[in-house]
Amino acid sequence: MASTPTFQLYNTLTRRVDPIEPAEQTADGTPHLRFYSCGPTVYAFAHIGNFRSFLTADLIVRTARALGWDTTYVTNVTDVGHLTDDDMTDPSGEDRMVKALRSKEGQRFANIWDLARYYTEALLRDWRALNLQEPDVRPRATEHIRPQILAVQQLIENGHAYETSQGIYFSVESFPDYGKLSGRGQDAEALVEGAAAQSRDVVTDPDKRDPRDFALWKKDDAHLMQWHSPWGWGFPGWHIECSVMANEYLGPSIDLHAGGEDLIFPHHECEIAQAESLSGEPFARYWAHTRFLQVEGEKMSKSKGNFYTVRDFIAPEPEGRDLDPLALRLTLLSGQYRKPFNFTFDTLRDNVRHVQRLQDVDALVDDAMAEDAPGDDFLGERLDALYDKALAALCDDLNTPAAIAAALEGAKMLGGVGSNLNGATARRAKDWLDQINALLGIIRHDETPASADDPEEEGLDVQALIDERDAARAAKDYERADALRDALQEMGYEVMDTPEGTQVRRQVRI
Ligand SMILES: [Zn+2]
Repeated sequence: MASTPTFQLYNTLTRRVDPIEPAEQTADGTPHLRFYSCGPTVYAFAHIGNFRSFLTADLIVRTARALGWDTTYVTNVTDVGHLTDDDMTDPSGEDRMVKALRSKEGQRFANIWDLARYYTEALLRDWRALNLQEPDVRPRATEHIRPQILAVQQLIENGHAYETSQGIYFSVESFPDYGKLSGRGQDAEALVEGAAAQSRDVVTDPDKRDPRDFALWKKDDAHLMQWHSPWGWGFPGWHIECSVMANEYLGPSIDLHAGGEDLIFPHHECEIAQAESLSGEPFARYWAHTRFLQVEGEKMSKSKGNFYTVRDFIAPEPEGRDLDPLALRLTLLSGQYRKPFNFTFDTLRDNVRHVQRLQDVDALVDDAMAEDAPGDDFLGERLDALYDKALAALCDDLNTPAAIAAALEGAKMLGGVGSNLNGATARRAKDWLDQINALLGIIRHDETPASADDPEEEGLDVQALIDERDAARAAKDYERADALRDALQEMGYEVMDTPEGTQVRRQVRI
């Protein structure tokens, strides 16, 4: 590598692009990044906008590891306490999980625990399919109730929280830095007006001391998920879960915290207030936020019919469009995380082709390695330069368009050489493809996705049909060969006759 680039990200807290300098180093001097990224609330299938934000976290981890850093990566699952109006200043409304259970889709679940389990498992399947790195820890809010209760108790003892007949509230007045992340929250009147404009039925607790105060614990002995606390039966607020779980797995003062831009206020502002009031230390030094995506130039919404979950694309037909999940991954990465991103079907189609090209080149290189033709490596230096370019682009505030362009340029170069690749060049090319894949995850899965419709298993069936078709053609049984071609097409493959025999590739149906 030419020289190690400096990893820089836009820091919402300082409002500038900052070099990331982890506070800790391992015994041998390796930087150790301690990183927390807010995960989803598991009341529905995750949509493509959620995953764009999870992909930002994934790229941060991949970039840090490519730089040789040690990482501890924590991302949570919110399975209790996220209220429908939590995006308002006054957390009220209904628990999203409870609301989902009462909906039409919710009727197939035995109870709320069953619903949480189902959508958590769906999330993990989508996560693996889109080739996101597994976090070191994926804590669930419902499995961390006791430390949340203890944190609330401590906040009461420190004078940062108080009790009313409805719950326990954090006293914003007790934390003068409230608003330092978002620039919001200092002016109570403006906040209340803003909240009222957004929601007609903001339920306010008349005993709250300040309209900005937010719930740490809700008293509710009728809630479907409830725990016993010093304040009776109830459940924790959404914000306290992340402060507590970040502290549990990463310590009171962490390097980097990430999430979608909708979390800046109030969620992350509240996390800071809680965590810093508990520890007296700065909570996170860097904050990275992913912009929302639009679909075909419009805000994604169910009423507009342009709302897409991950499974709408990757699930087998008829439920989904049977798209290569790596093509969806590449599409979601194709715009830089901090810029508004317009998801279009044209971009998706382009990226299906890009992933196909990378995979074709990967196969070409495998063949050339197997053949091992004599000769010296003649591409290694140019490929190394392209890898350096890709890594430098990601270090530059995750400039994914530039990193992807470098990867595609390398693929084009290798494709151009084609069957003239000698063994030495192919081995260098394979190393390059492995490096690019470790960085961007767009050529093949780091781990084989484990699911009922395992592509490997399907691969076996497909290969059997291909072999049978080649045998039929060799025996001049064209009727049988045509029937087998139809069967492959039926399974969603494009069938090509080549001098090497039958070749197939996934049909694009988007
Ligand atoms: Zn969070």
